Amino acid sequence: MIEFVSSDRCVQCTLCVKVCPTNVFDKGEDGIPVIARQEDCQTCFICEAYCPVDALYVAPYADPLEAAPIEAQLVANNVLGSWRETIGWGKGRTKLAEIDTTPFIDRILPPKRTG
Ligand code: SF4
Ligand code: SF4
Repeated sequence: MIEFVSSDRCVQCTLCVKVCPTNVFDKGEDGIPVIARQEDCQTCFICEAYCPVDALYVAPYADPLEAAPIEAQLVANNVLGSWRETIGWGKGRTKLAEIDTTPFIDRILPPKRTG
């Protein structure tokens, strides 16, 4: 579930507001997105993936954390934007699709015909 927007890192591009499939964010008066409907978050990580400056933290849990995260802890634990890094989005990173050898497509398609 979306838990945190870093106002220090945010460059007010509004990408997260636009890409969220469930309209969780509102654009704040200062341009920094506000988590307005946290309960609608689907924990899809799309906002975190799109944020160009790793300003977002989506916790991998469906329920909200009991206490609001502290930015210094998120930075120390290297989790701000960590999903984006994992999937290789961002300059100089290796895209997950380039290294993933999981034969996913073979699992959902019918077997190849041989004759
Ligand atoms: S994790 Fe998905 S549903 Fe939740 S705020 Fe981000 S984009 Fe929206
Ligand atoms: S995508 Fe990142 S930089 Fe852009 S508005 Fe959202 S939090 Fe700010």
